[in-house]
Amino acid sequence: MVMIMNNERVKTTKLDPNERIKTFKEVDLGFSEADAKREASRCLNCPNPRCVLGCPVKIQIPKFIAALKDDDLEGAYEIIAASSTLASICGRVCPQEEQCEKMCVRGLRGEAIAIGALERFLGDWALKKNAFPLKKESDNHIPVAIIGSGPSGLACAQALLSKGYDVTMFEALHAAGGVLRYGIPEFRLPKEIVDKSVDNLVQNGLKLKLNTLIGKTLTLDDLRKKYRAIYIATGAGLPKFMGLENEDANGVFSANEILTRINLMKAYEPNSATPIKRGSTALVIGGGNVAFDAARSMRRLGLEVKIVYRRDEAHLKARHEEIVHAKEEGIDLVFNTLPTKVLTDADYRVTGLEVVKTSIDGDKYQIIPDDYTQIKGDIIIEALGTNPNKIVIDNTEIKTEDDKIVTSKGHTNIACIFAGGDIVTGSATVIKAMGAALEAAEEIDKYLGGKDETQ
Ligand SMILES: Cc1cc2nc3c(=O)[nH]c(=O)nc-3n(C[C@H](O)[C@H](O)[C@H](O)COP(=O)(O)OP(=O)(O)OC[C@H]3O[C@@H](n4cnc5c(N)ncnc54)[C@H](O)[C@@H]3O)c2cc1C
Repeated sequence: MVMIMNNERVKTTKLDPNERIKTFKEVDLGFSEADAKREASRCLNCPNPRCVLGCPVKIQIPKFIAALKDDDLEGAYEIIAASSTLASICGRVCPQEEQCEKMCVRGLRGEAIAIGALERFLGDWALKKNAFPLKKESDNHIPVAIIGSGPSGLACAQALLSKGYDVTMFEALHAAGGVLRYGIPEFRLPKEIVDKSVDNLVQNGLKLKLNTLIGKTLTLDDLRKKYRAIYIATGAGLPKFMGLENEDANGVFSANEILTRINLMKAYEPNSATPIKRGSTALVIGGGNVAFDAARSMRRLGLEVKIVYRRDEAHLKARHEEIVHAKEEGIDLVFNTLPTKVLTDADYRVTGLEVVKTSIDGDKYQIIPDDYTQIKGDIIIEALGTNPNKIVIDNTEIKTEDDKIVTSKGHTNIACIFAGGDIVTGSATVIKAMGAALEAAEEIDKYLGGKDETQ
């Protein structure tokens, strides 16, 4: 065993970069129980824990870490579960370095406690044990509908099932999980974890209706006739494009399309029904998690990959870990570079990008006049953010602003209809989508009263 100083965190094991670029297997292998306990023992158990203030759902972090240290894994997991319904998932994908870990006192003179990795360890432990049926109040038979099966829909379902409601979830796609399923790649979030999290809810009474696009297959009015309250959690899945010249050329994709084909439709398998034109070089435009996920996925399909970003490294929006991993995997980061035109051949196929150099002034960038160059590439992937898709509320009175549903504590302007997650905030984070769901579930419960009217 390697001795560590108390201001150094215990490291998780990671797949070697040379191995990982040939596979979609998970990169970070997490803690063993012994390592989790060693890391837990570094926690100072502060009387006024700043880490809790940094957590959007206020998990009692020092308490769960203390229970873990004392060998009480079940107790530790239950402390997390009281605030967060998707520990295995949040432990993997939450930006802890900007939230709880950023506030950790240990971080002032060394490395913050690896709170995310400890959460993940306990979440995985509970999923493996499969020993935690929801603590449910008795059934009240009141039907509630949830639209969308992403983290917000799942968290709301769990909270309402626990309160005894009869919950039906409608999902447009053929598999549940939202971005957890079709956006975040297998090498960051194995789909087995998403499956188990969804299955756990189904075993606890969730009725899951897949392949049902609300707004087309059924309308909100149809649902209002059958359900006493509705929670809309349809996310923000509509990709934005730059509007470049030749953007409709053969070989330009949104990151959403590429990631959906890879994650949901297994485009990385040789006999996939949705193969991706590969070529030898992919150019990914953007600097957030989505750009890095698309870039790292294309690298695993065997391409050289360049991320083209209009600002400098300090302005990248992706998680630090993703940036480090992408560099280790040989992805080229091209900073201060703004695409201006898609270059094509005589058959209107992509051959690259015309770009112009930029300079940074604070948070703003400026184009350097006449500093144009070209970058060769066979696929261009745009990862510029997304907008909510409003099909679900077309032809309804639900109030929106900038295409997002307007809410107050989860209430929309229509009494029985609630909403939360990316459809309200625009593209945000898993934990924020989950936090909004928990708040809305409380409000739905207050609105419906939880009283069984069948008796
Ligand atoms: C590639 C990618 C990587 C990301 N990485 C991270 C990360 O590392 N950490 C992090 O915290 N966040 C990350 N995010 C953001 C995070 O995933 C989202 O903020 C979160 O998933 C939002 O949850 P949601 O439940 O509101 O919506 P979604 O997850 O988008 O789920 C919405 C669901 O509703 C369904 N739906 C939509 N319309 C209808 C309809 N009319 N009828 C029925 N169903 C419908 C959709 O098919 C989807 O399944 C990432 C996002 C992307 C795209």
